[in-house]
Amino acid sequence: MGDGTTGVVTLQPEEGEKVRGVASGLGSDNSLDELGRPELMEARRTGDIALVHSWEIVTAVDGPGTRMTMFLSGCPLRCQYCHNPDTMEMKTGTLERVEDVVKRIKRYKPVFRASGGGLTISGGEPLFQMAFTRRVLKAVHDEGIHTAIDTSGFLGARLTDEDLENIDLVLLDVKSGDEETYRTVTGRQLAPTIKFGDRLSAIDKPVWVRFVVVPGLTDSPENVRNVADIVGRWTNNVQRVEVLPFHNMGADKWHDLGMKYNLEDTKPPKAEDVEKIRNVFRAKRLEVH
Ligand code: SF4
Repeated sequence: MGDGTTGVVTLQPEEGEKVRGVASGLGSDNSLDELGRPELMEARRTGDIALVHSWEIVTAVDGPGTRMTMFLSGCPLRCQYCHNPDTMEMKTGTLERVEDVVKRIKRYKPVFRASGGGLTISGGEPLFQMAFTRRVLKAVHDEGIHTAIDTSGFLGARLTDEDLENIDLVLLDVKSGDEETYRTVTGRQLAPTIKFGDRLSAIDKPVWVRFVVVPGLTDSPENVRNVADIVGRWTNNVQRVEVLPFHNMGADKWHDLGMKYNLEDTKPPKAEDVEKIRNVFRAKRLEVH
């Protein structure tokens, strides 16, 4: 997922079951097992199928109301604090057909209606398997279901203006405020995220910004000021800023994957330091959580 901290989520007891758990691997769906490699590639290109990492039903995160969150595999970033490093590569998940996914989401319409919730597509990066994401967003939005994407914005240029009409809310991670720090944190450039944020602001698209406070990595006063300056340009459409304290509950996943985890010794930030950072955003007249 984009922000890297909300990988651990709570299942609501009343919606108890995971719609489909973290899946076992490529081709685990019987009918899709029969597809040959060329057909598979073609189906991924058209968005007929995608590699879905997992599903969760959550409340009070990833958007308003009760959310059905679909985590897609694949991400171009390599955030040091990522809590779902197993979604970075297109390796883990279940191949799912677009029509099955849409059918499953539609079944939850009464829950969405009652709670003011909807669908959130997260990851990984929801815009990585763009053709599939596009088709799901359109089909679900046409049904009158609220839609959100949880993204770093790095691939925002992949969304057409029509795609944006099928998205009601963008959860946008601004992981740092200058190119150098952003590259250290994510391995990629910051500019595409700013450009995407400017585009969303120009069309008044509702946005929730997320910023993760990682001691020694993203918490310098200068970096915080830079992030706040960027977000401060978007006060017309940013409905809230979520300042999220880093926690290293994802460390085990890095170890399990045999990947080097750089934040082994990093402690969560102190509550008062997080509050100070929230105040920097509040000073920009932003609603901060
Ligand atoms: S590497 Fe990708 S999935 Fe992980 S936190 Fe960064 S943007 Fe999110």
